[in-house]
Amino acid sequence: MKERLQQLQEEALSELRQAQDLKELQDVRVQVLGKKGSLTEVMKGMRDLSSDQRPLIGSLVNTLKNLFEDSFASRQLELQQQDIAAKLASEKIDVTLPGRRAMSGSLHPVTLVTDEVNEIFSRLGFAVAEGPEIEQDFYNFEALNIPKDHPARDMQDTFYISDDRVLRTHTSPVQIRTMLKHEPPIRIIAPGTVYRRDSDITHSPMFHQVEGFLVDEKVTFGDLKGILTHFLNEFFGDGHAVRFRPSFFPFTEPSAEVDIECVICGGDGCRVCGKTGWLEILGCGMIDPAVFDSVNYDADKFSGFAFGMGLERMAMLKYGVNDLRLFFENDLRFLKQF
Ligand SMILES: [Zn+2]
Repeated sequence: MKERLQQLQEEALSELRQAQDLKELQDVRVQVLGKKGSLTEVMKGMRDLSSDQRPLIGSLVNTLKNLFEDSFASRQLELQQQDIAAKLASEKIDVTLPGRRAMSGSLHPVTLVTDEVNEIFSRLGFAVAEGPEIEQDFYNFEALNIPKDHPARDMQDTFYISDDRVLRTHTSPVQIRTMLKHEPPIRIIAPGTVYRRDSDITHSPMFHQVEGFLVDEKVTFGDLKGILTHFLNEFFGDGHAVRFRPSFFPFTEPSAEVDIECVICGGDGCRVCGKTGWLEILGCGMIDPAVFDSVNYDADKFSGFAFGMGLERMAMLKYGVNDLRLFFENDLRFLKQF
């Protein structure tokens, strides 16, 4: 019996040492001290021993049981500490790794162009004005000498909200709003969003315009030419020829379209300028006396000029962008180049 106990002790302690995790350790305990455990079986068999053997074997069994419990506890502690160490190692943070770089935004090319146009005209004494994008018929059309039957009002071009309200089709209503509030002299630049029912490679239903106008005594077409030529030289750089072609707008008379020598090919003719060597940049003219009538200005005393241009087109020419839709797709690969 003593030998049996000796063997059992060796086996049990060896299995405790071999247990690799807490579950295996618990299994060893069940094998030894569980209901059908090896040591439990020995204890059950003690009733068959003779009374003189029983105390000796009983004491040996107790010693073995205590030894097993102690070894179990120390192996358990060992395995628990191993677990904690492994967990700490797996959750370790390397504070020397570089952090994630924060992405910085950049200004949209249309915003950059708008800012530059505003800045150039600010140096010439123009103030920036704004107006609503939902506009009354009176400001968008009527007061600008565009009567009810004018083709510019065609449903094809204008987004109507009601019979009397539209999404403004140009920034020109800012002229009327400003002139109704202020007496000349006036110098205003009015950038903003405008809307037309048009969408293709060079047209978007929402786009940006800048309107400029100046009203004072004795303003001439020569003043208009001087200011616009100066502006175009500032914006595109010196050395580009500028020409004025007669045109028609309801709210100016006389009217002109302004071309600049192609900034891409320098006038030799290319795809962008359609081989003409010239780029159409803006429309302008002397403010029509009918417009002065609708804001109660004395057309005999005051004269003035107005001009307007598309900011996307200016940005396309300035940055060599060939598709207008790129401005509105919010593709970071495009936007982060500016
Ligand atoms: Zn060209």
